[in-house]
Amino acid sequence: MLTVSDLHVSYGPIEVIHGISLEVKEGECVALIGANGAGKSSTLRAICGLVPAHSGQITFDGQDITNKSGHTIVRAGITMCPEGRQVFPRMSTLQNLAMGAYTRSDADQASDLEDMLDMFPVLRERAKQAAGTLSGGEQEMLAIARALMARPRLCIFDEPSLGLAPKIVADVGATIEKIKSLGKTILLVEQNSAMALRLADRAYLFEAGEIVLSGTGAELQSHPEVAKAYLGH
Ligand code: ATP
Repeated sequence: MLTVSDLHVSYGPIEVIHGISLEVKEGECVALIGANGAGKSSTLRAICGLVPAHSGQITFDGQDITNKSGHTIVRAGITMCPEGRQVFPRMSTLQNLAMGAYTRSDADQASDLEDMLDMFPVLRERAKQAAGTLSGGEQEMLAIARALMARPRLCIFDEPSLGLAPKIVADVGATIEKIKSLGKTILLVEQNSAMALRLADRAYLFEAGEIVLSGTGAELQSHPEVAKAYLGH
């Protein structure tokens, strides 16, 4: 579904992604793991058209999306649930969800909204509340539901558990599993490597802007270097 080939990304004169290649097949959950600054978020941002690819190619469903604008990429079927949630703080929960569907003109938005409120009951309780007043965990659920409102074929999650209490992190993991069971394809960046590898069918390990290891989630979980450096055992 998604193919990234020999991608290079630079910020000004500094190159931070040095020719990575990866793929995500339809129905898979693929995780990108690695230390802070290894280049995971920059890779996601390039896929979503939020930073330019200096060179290389990104294709989605056979269509070249390299350096296309963010809104074109959303319309192509890719939605990002961004790091730090980035809900619209002064808009209500319902308004945030409506914003997620801004690319759509079909008649199913109201029923999708109901589905989201069923899937995340806390959002129904907070429907009219300003999103900025929700707790961190509630904002994460809102950011996930807002992303789903676009009816994406590929959902990208950037650090969904960042800054959340352990109980809420478990809820986020269960939510991602549920989204996968709905048939969505998932690309996940997660600092909680243990959770990411548990959820992932396949994973890539980033180090200093390069992919140094890839395999199934289970293979990486049992890889001695990954276990020592990223799983703490
Ligand atoms: P983290 O988990 O901390 O987000 P990451 O693996 O996602 O780490 P990136 O955020 O992609 O890594 O960062 C890769 C490199 O690019 C780092 O050296 C970082 O300092 C640099 N970088 C990221 N964003 C910018 C920016 N806007 N301008 C300049 N350099 C940046």
